[in-house]
Amino acid sequence: MARPTHALIDIAALQNNLQRVKSCAPTQRVMAVIKANAYNHGAVKVANALESNVDAFAVCCLEEALELRDADIKKPIVLLEGAFHIDELPVIAHHDLQIVIAMSKQLEQLVKAKLEKPIHIWLKVDTGMHRLGFSPNDIEQIYKFLKQNQQVENIYLMSHLACADDRQDKMTEQQTEIFNQLVQSLNIEESSLANSAGILGWPQTHADWVRPGIMLYGASPFVNSVAIDEGLQPVMQLQSALISVKRLRKGEAIGYGAAWHSPQNMPVGVVAIGYADGYPRKAPSGTPVLVNGRRVPLIGRVSMDMITVDLRTQPNARIGDPVVLWGKSLPVEEIASLAETIAYELLCNVGSRVEMF
Ligand SMILES: *Cc1c(COP(=O)(O)O)cnc(C)c1O
Repeated sequence: MARPTHALIDIAALQNNLQRVKSCAPTQRVMAVIKANAYNHGAVKVANALESNVDAFAVCCLEEALELRDADIKKPIVLLEGAFHIDELPVIAHHDLQIVIAMSKQLEQLVKAKLEKPIHIWLKVDTGMHRLGFSPNDIEQIYKFLKQNQQVENIYLMSHLACADDRQDKMTEQQTEIFNQLVQSLNIEESSLANSAGILGWPQTHADWVRPGIMLYGASPFVNSVAIDEGLQPVMQLQSALISVKRLRKGEAIGYGAAWHSPQNMPVGVVAIGYADGYPRKAPSGTPVLVNGRRVPLIGRVSMDMITVDLRTQPNARIGDPVVLWGKSLPVEEIASLAETIAYELLCNVGSRVEMF
């Protein structure tokens, strides 16, 4: 039998989470963010499940968009990092893709490229994140310049929120104000500002288009909440099984670095999952793992292909018993926080050898 390490993808949960987006932002259009292989949930599978109920998709780059077009996804697709090279632009136009333009190099490339038809542009303004985007002071000039370009179809304005994951942070209000002023003064047709945290926590950021990512996959974007608190259902369940059960004697050590010693004679389980599968190496002893649906603590260091768990509360556990690392009954946010990271990273790190169903 094959290694029992799988990620189960719950399409009904995904669709539920899209409905949650729509109940938060009922009049907005939805650009579902499915970059990075839909946060590792399978971009084509996710796109097929959502296509009839969203207005567009967003991915990182051309390669990701072409995978979707090859799979016959017809909806508009936005490249969030735009074109990296001028040679990509004719391909972008040919496949009816839309691009974000966030820096002058991309403007120059657009001017020089020869396109078979005009393309749709999302002009990115930097409202405070100071990563990508033009300064608000330059937007008017760039907007007018693009308006006159024959190769440009529509121009929408977008920006990205830096601190919306903290419901108290004042920065979101400041970014929204800068953004709204530009939208008004330039008389922009359509605009977009909100990621998942904006959608759930900041109605004033909803604008015309919302861009949900993590919430579609059923994880909370906020620092102090988990999916169910936000009306979301986890889409991925990462699971494996016990591949060995043994008894340790009091004082014996387990795993690399002999980092954990048994306080008494006790049963210990070995689970077929490790950091090569995306289980975080930083997860400390005590991190919960579900064995037969009940929590037991991780003990010792996470190895590449295995972890070890304390089975004192489950003396009858046997080889083959099911293990869940995260999913509906064990929030990925909780594991992320113990491993000093965020749910986004854990989902994105699930290894390529983990089969998805
Ligand atoms: C990834 C991304 C999103 C989605 O963010 P979530 O926090 O996952 O909802 C939205 N907009 C842009 C520009 C992004 O890069």
